[in-house]
Parts: sequence; C-alpha cells; structure tokens
Amino acid sequence: MGAGLVGSLLSLYLAQRGHEVTIYERRADLRKAGSVEGRSINLALSDRGWRALEGVGIGEEIRRVGIPMYRRVMHDQQGQLSFQPYGQDNQAIYSVSRAGLNRTLLDLAEQNPRIQLRFNEQCLGIDLRANHLELRDTLTGAQHTVPFQQLFGTDGAFSAVRGAMQRTDRFNYSQSYLEYGYKELTIEAGPGGEWPLEKNALHIWPRGQYLMIALPNLDGSFNCTLFFPYEGAHSFAALQTAAQVQAFFEEIFPDALPLMPDLREEFFQNPVGSLVTVRCFPWAFDDNVLLLGDASHAIVPFYGQGMNAGFEDCTVLNELLEHHGNDWSTVFEQFQRQRKPDADAMAELALYNFEEMRDRVADPRFLLQKKIESK
Ligand code: FAD
Repeated sequence: MGAGLVGSLLSLYLAQRGHEVTIYERRADLRKAGSVEGRSINLALSDRGWRALEGVGIGEEIRRVGIPMYRRVMHDQQGQLSFQPYGQDNQAIYSVSRAGLNRTLLDLAEQNPRIQLRFNEQCLGIDLRANHLELRDTLTGAQHTVPFQQLFGTDGAFSAVRGAMQRTDRFNYSQSYLEYGYKELTIEAGPGGEWPLEKNALHIWPRGQYLMIALPNLDGSFNCTLFFPYEGAHSFAALQTAAQVQAFFEEIFPDALPLMPDLREEFFQNPVGSLVTVRCFPWAFDDNVLLLGDASHAIVPFYGQGMNAGFEDCTVLNELLEHHGNDWSTVFEQFQRQRKPDADAMAELALYNFEEMRDRVADPRFLLQKKIESK
C-alpha cells in the first residue's frame, strides 16, 4: 500500500524474488503532467540509501542525476561562511530530486511484468482476519474490496494500514509533533544557470532557535527549507505581511535574500508542513501484514535519514527473505526485532541533530572540535 519512495522500491525487491505485486496508491500518477507531486523538492541520499538502490541495480542511474555534497557550509548573520566536511576522502551525501527518484522507481516497477500499479486507489481500511483491503477509487468514489496474501504498509506517516493495526490488542503507538513547522522556498539559479552558492555543499543558516537549509538542484537553483517556530516573536505566526517577511529576511538571512526573488510570493503560497515522530510496535500482524518506512518509523528530517532508513528496511527485508525463503512468519518477526532498535536510535539522532544544526554548528568550539576530528 503506497507507491511513495519506499513502496515503489520494495515492489522491485519483491518482484526480483519472483513475487507478484500490486501497488495501490491514493494519489494520481506523479509522472503524468500537471501532478502537484512533480514539484522539485530534494532529499539527501546517503550510504544506506545507496546500498538499497544498488540492490535493484539503479545506483548508477540515480548517481548520475544526484549532486554530491562534500561539506556543510554555514552562513552566519553577517554573511561569513564556515565549513565542515561530511567525511574523509571525498565522502559525500547526495542531493537528489524526490519526484525524480520516485519517477525512476515507478518507471522500473511499470516495466516489470510482475508488478501492477493502481493509482487513485485509497485504502480505507483492512479486515485483518479475512485478509481483505477496503479501497476507494478517488476519481469515482466507488468502493471495493480486494483480498491479499501479504500486505506491506508503505503508506507513510499517516498510514491507513497502521491505522487498522492500531485497533488490535496491545499495539503500542505514539506520535509527537515539534513546535516547529517547515516551509519550502527557492534560491534562484544565476543568469547563466550557474549555482549562486557553492554547488557541492549543503548550506545551513543556523540561528539558535531556528534554521534554514538549502540543497542544490541540477538546474542551478537550490531548494531551501525554513524550519521555524509556529508561535513566538520569531515565528510563522509573527510573519503575516510581505513587508514583515522582507524585513525579517533582511535582518536574519541577509546573504540569502538577494538570491530569493520570489520569496514574498512563495512565503504565502507554500504551506507550512508539520514535523512528527511516529513510534509503534509491533510492525507485523501475523504472517500477513508488515509496516515499513514512515508507516512504522516516521522521524523528523534533521538527520536526513527518513527515506534512507525506509530504503534500508527494503535491504534488510530482502536479506531475511534470502535467508528464510517465504517463511513470512519468521521473516516478519526477525525484521521487526532487528529494525525496531535501529529505527528508535534514528529517531533520537534526528531530534538531537535539530539542536546541532540550528545551534551547535554555529558554535566556534564545535567548529574547532570538528576541525580536530577531521584531521
Ligand atoms: P511517503 O513518501 O510518505 O509515501 C507514502 C505513499 O503512500 C504516498 O505516495 C501516499 O500518497 C500513499 N498513501 C498514503 N495513504 C494512503 C492510503 N490511505 N491509501 C493509499 N495510498 C496511500 N529523508 C531522507 O532520507 N533524506 C532527506 O534529506 C529528507 N528530507 C526530508 C525533508 C522534509 C521537509 C521532510 C518532511 C522529510 C524528509 N525526509 C528525508 C523523510 C522522507 O521524506 C520520508 O522518510 C520518506 O518520504 C518516507 O517514504 P515512505 O515511502 O515511507 O512514505
């Protein structure tokens, strides 16, 4: 259930093992013209993500359209820059387009005769005893049920599959929101399509209680994300007019402002997204249902690992299937036992890294320590 990043990759792994897969996706096909999902937003892809893509043979293809980011570049309020390498010997994380990556995975799924894609199909519920899905055609509103043998819930942080499991006995669940939201903004490409900031870097404007980041796109632009409190003196609530936004950016992000000609329009057009951590257990229901990706472990984005961890779920599941064949009961049980501690650790690191990115990266003591470490 769900043809997002994790669902579409998982379908390739399952088909590679000889299984017949049908993917149901609530939204329209993002590859079709006019899809709002086609909007260019990028993600940081790192080692565990690469390993999972290489497992279905598309590492190279994606690497060709990814931009390596070798270091963080911090912008202080005076426009001064400082730098921290991400690793040694040219190690990098990569900026990749979310829509581009999803499109590539869907193209591959579509070419695979074992995979059927069904768009505009929303999961309304699941009969866990009878192994039936309840679906609604989002174009006509018609409802129907389909049987399943194994159901993989890759329908994201607000998973309907998880929703059905939440109503079973002794299912643990928690969700917690930050007091911060995020807004996507754009740094325009230069006049000749050149990158107006260092291309091969992740840019951060740490400001203590909040921050902005920017990741490069292939066309010379950067996607910025402002992580900002909902309420307070410096907050979304406090910026209600174009003049207030202009004055705020002039004071707080003076070197970025001239590169953001559409700021005033974008600030009011683009929605504020919320930031949630979801923890739950178990992830499996008998040998029939398994949750993966954000459906089982949605985390805040500050460690850049949500998708990477979801991709790693696919690698781990594939390894277990290699080992135990179609003994789904053993595979699901081992999967959840093995992955849950890792997912919990990732959730903690992501929350911790919020503080580091908005505050500690700007601390001269931290910079010095990083310098020593990298030597
Ligand atoms: P999703 O991408 O949410 O896909 C779920 C799919 O299921 C969707 O297509 C949805 O339409 C479908 N669906 C939902 N409900 C239903 C239903 N009822 N019926 C049918 N279909 C349904 N991760 C990184 O690794 N690196 C990053 O740099 C990074 N940056 C991020 C920045 C931001 C601002 C945010 C918010 C997240 C970021 N993440 C990042 C996290 C990453 O986006 C998620 O971890 C990833 O998208 C999870 O993939 P998924 O396939 O599990 O879920």
